[in-house]
Amino acid sequence: MKYELPLLPYADDALEPNMSAETIHYHYGKHFQTYLTNLNTLIEGTKYEEMPLEEIVRTAEGPLFNNAGQAWNHKMFFLELSPDPKREPGGRLAEAIRRDFGSFEQMKEKFTHAANTLFGSGWAFLSQDEGGHLIISQEPNGNNPMTKGLIPLMTCDVWEHAYYIDYKNRRADFAGKFWEMLDWSVVESKYK
Ligand code: MN
Repeated sequence: MKYELPLLPYADDALEPNMSAETIHYHYGKHFQTYLTNLNTLIEGTKYEEMPLEEIVRTAEGPLFNNAGQAWNHKMFFLELSPDPKREPGGRLAEAIRRDFGSFEQMKEKFTHAANTLFGSGWAFLSQDEGGHLIISQEPNGNNPMTKGLIPLMTCDVWEHAYYIDYKNRRADFAGKFWEMLDWSVVESKYK
């Protein structure tokens, strides 16, 4: 199969208690895998077979877009988490955050609000435009800021499957604990 689960840079239970091994088992091992399996089935024998995943996300529609978007979004999400994260951004990204949101704390507040108030299933994203300006957005279902010409820097999954095992209906609790797991060194490496 063309698309496979990326190896996690941490053990299944390494993010506990913020994210349990059971959530990793279902969210990474089942939900993420299903999007990849669907993606592989949908591209087989089509022009999308030779296309980079980013280009599929930017150009496809319907079920292919949904599964390609979910595949791309989950890879960003799981690979930006760490049991020993860098807790704050530095360098040029930190400067851009201060310039565009006032402070790191204000950016976190705005992002958390976006995660908590997104209606239904979807994702909160921090992205940049070509000029380096930062944008926080709510993306429904499997959508991605790349479809609006933006460069995604980090994301929080707020589909119920991301938090229901550990937090039940308390999405805001999960969104708060997200900051305990997010590794800013990964986010910095994406900022251009
Ligand atoms: Mn998910």
